[in-house]
Formats: sequence, C-alpha cells, structure tokens
Amino acid sequence: MRIAIGGISHETNTFSTLHTRLEDFRIQRGREVLADVIKPFHGITFTPTLFAYATPGGLIEKRAYLTLRDELLAYLEQALPLDGIYLSLHGAMEVEGIGDGESDLLLAIRSLVSDEVPIAVSLDLHGNIAPDLVKMADILTAYRTAPHRDHIETCRRALRLLIRCIQGGTRPVKAFVKIPIIIPGEFAVTDREPARSLYEGVRQISLAPGMLDASLLIGCAWTDSPHTSLSVIAIAESDHSLAHKYAVGLAEETWRRRCEFRPEVEALPVDEAIQHAISCEQGPVFISDSGDNITAGGAGDIPLCLEKLLEARVENALVAGICDTEAASKCLEAGVGATLHITIGGKLDRINGRPLDVTAKVMRIVPEDEHGPSLAVVKIEGVDVILTSKRYAFTTLFSFSRAGVDPTRYKIVVVKMGYLFPELRTIARHSIWALTPGFTDLCLERLPYKRLTRPIYPLDGDFAWEARSNVVLY
Ligand SMILES: [Zn+2]
Repeated sequence: MRIAIGGISHETNTFSTLHTRLEDFRIQRGREVLADVIKPFHGITFTPTLFAYATPGGLIEKRAYLTLRDELLAYLEQALPLDGIYLSLHGAMEVEGIGDGESDLLLAIRSLVSDEVPIAVSLDLHGNIAPDLVKMADILTAYRTAPHRDHIETCRRALRLLIRCIQGGTRPVKAFVKIPIIIPGEFAVTDREPARSLYEGVRQISLAPGMLDASLLIGCAWTDSPHTSLSVIAIAESDHSLAHKYAVGLAEETWRRRCEFRPEVEALPVDEAIQHAISCEQGPVFISDSGDNITAGGAGDIPLCLEKLLEARVENALVAGICDTEAASKCLEAGVGATLHITIGGKLDRINGRPLDVTAKVMRIVPEDEHGPSLAVVKIEGVDVILTSKRYAFTTLFSFSRAGVDPTRYKIVVVKMGYLFPELRTIARHSIWALTPGFTDLCLERLPYKRLTRPIYPLDGDFAWEARSNVVLY
C-alpha cells in the first residue's frame, strides 16, 4: 500500500499587516515529513512530499504559497501511482489573491490524481471550513481539544481511517453543516462547558454503529473570510441518512448552547486586569495580553501591558515577551550588565501599538539556536522583560527555562496568548485575560470584518436558524 503524506499548515490572521513569507515557513522534506505521525504504522510505503508550517500570522504571500504547493505537487507526481494521500492541514489558511488555501491545494491535487484515490485530511479545530474542502477530501477529522493536546492522535486517526478505506475498497459519505456563529477560540476551551459536552458528543458519534468520525470546528475568528464560522462534519461508512442525522443533532445542540460560549476566566480592560492581579494574594498570576496573541497571529510586539505595569509601579513582574529585533540586538551587543536607553515594541503592529521608551539593564542574553530566537532578558524598574528577536510565544515551561527565567518566582507574568497553554496551567495560581487591542482582539465587534457570511451570531444579534435546512451531503 502506497500513501503519500505531506501538507501546508497555517492559521491565517487576515487582520495582521505582517504577511507570511516563504522564509517564515519551516519545511520538512524526505524522511523528516510527519515522521512522528507515521511511526506506529507498519507495512505501508509512505512517500513523503513536503510538510510546511509557520507561526500564525498574516495573509500568506501568493508566491510563497505557490512555491510550496508546486513543490508538494511535484513530489506527488513522482510518487504516482498511489493508493491514498494523507494531508496535515489547519483549515484557516488564506492566501493573497487566492483565498481559501486548503480548497486550492485540494483542487490542485485532485487535478493530478483521479477521484479514485482517497484523500484524508487532519485539521485544527480552529479551521474555517469551505464546502469545497469537504467535497474534495474523502476523510476530514479535526482536533477535539483546545488548548490542543491531541495533535498527533488526530493525524493518526485521519491516517487510520484512510488505511481502512483503502483496505476495504470503500468510500465514506459525509454530512456538513456550517453554523452561523463566530467566536474567539478562547471561548471554547474543551474542558469547560459548553465545549466539554459538545466534544463528548463528537466522541460518541464517531463510535456509533455505521459512523466513522465526527468533527466540531470552532473556526478562527481572526480570518475574515466567507467561510469563517463554526462547522460540523459527520462521516459515515456508507449511509448518508446516518451522517445527516448525527450532523444535524450536533449542529442543533451547538446552536442551542450558543450564548454559553464565554471566557473561562475574568476578561478585563488592561488597567483593571493589572489591579486585579496586584490584589491576588498568591502568584504567579498570569495575565494574557489577549489582543496581541502570537499563537493566533498577533504581532507580539505591543508594549501596552509593560507600559501599564510601569505606570502602576508594579514590582516583581515578568513580561514574556515582546518581539523587537532591533532592541534585542542592541542588548545582545551591549552585553550582560549594560544599561541602555531603548525603544521597545510598536514596530510590527503599527495600527494598535506604539513604541515605548525605557531605560533597561541587560540581565541575560541567549543566542539563537534550534529551540528558538535570540533573547535578551532586561530589567526595567520592577519589571523583567524578555525581548525576542523574532515573533515567539512562551507557551511551555522549557521556553521560560531557556530564557533562564523561573516564572513561578514572579507575582505577575504577562504572556502574549489567549487561553493559557497546558503547561502554564500547571503553574498559574490565577489566570486573567486583559482585553488589549491588537490583531487578535477578543472583542470581535471592534474588528473591521468585510468578508463574513452574514448574518452571524453574535455580531448580528440573535436570529432563528435550524441545522436541518443547512446540511450538505457529499
Ligand atoms: Zn488551533
């Protein structure tokens, strides 16, 4: 059995002015391609194409996408004939001048291989799913956890379903419903209601007799596209009515509980967030600078939280981090112990941020390595700040220890994300979201949407909708 593997994965934030370039992608080729995914599968000949992924960011430059796509297609052409294709995608990829990237990629692949060759796709549950994608792929399955803990499991599930179809010589049937709801991913943490029960429903459906799989996608609210919304995909072995029934049931239940999607912690204006953090008895209190969330395409260079911490004369706080190539390199040149006047941040997101002039003492420097960009840890009055030479989110305990910083020793830790990532949850005594401005503003009504399919809840208020009349079968 010969299966080609690969993919192009990107969560595109169309509000970002920082376009995603070819050099922003990390690219796996040859044996490296999805090696961790295919490890447990034996007796199958995997032919690698290319797997490219980049930190969430702005629209992908057309030339960059076409370069990656055409290389993937060239590998695929060499690998023919094939029994199947597995692609690891995101679902919220937008390309300059093309639009929905996943649909374009599938269309290009379908023009190369016949409809007889099954294609399986794994997705991030923050994907905005276009009908064309569901039509052209035979199997689609999305993560079931946010914060994500099931990436590899999801990829392997897609692959297992593909192998099952190839072995049985069968083609599954699909039901697809787009639910007219737009919410930040932050409002659908899967161990909190209503997402917890809805995803339990997803698991139950995929175990039901005659069913192969089900997905509930929350979508990415910061991709302004006609496909931005929640969606449901139900896949049955052969019975369309079964797929229809489960897709409608899950979509109706999601719609019924629409007003329950909310922040899991206090979400406050930045000054109140800082005052609240100060009033907490025990630290570390993590403040998410949610409008400048690098993990959802924020620039990661808005120094607003730092400015507010300094104004409030806070002692014992850490800002992890602020992206500023120029400031970081000045600190690296000056060396540990130097004190210098620098301008921090506000250079990438010029719409929502402005630079901050400070006097900083360099405490530590970390050169760029395979784990991340070069860093400079500086002290500015009572606040330690990690300056990063590239956009970089401190999502793991390792990312802090690499900077030589112990976050548990601070009263307040500011991070450029929305919901806290799993490892940070284990050390945070308290978590608060600051409703800051930026490309990932949690207050969606403040964003200049132009391409959404309207009406959409809650931006257009509440309205009547039913899943039954919005199901598409493939
Ligand atoms: Zn995601």
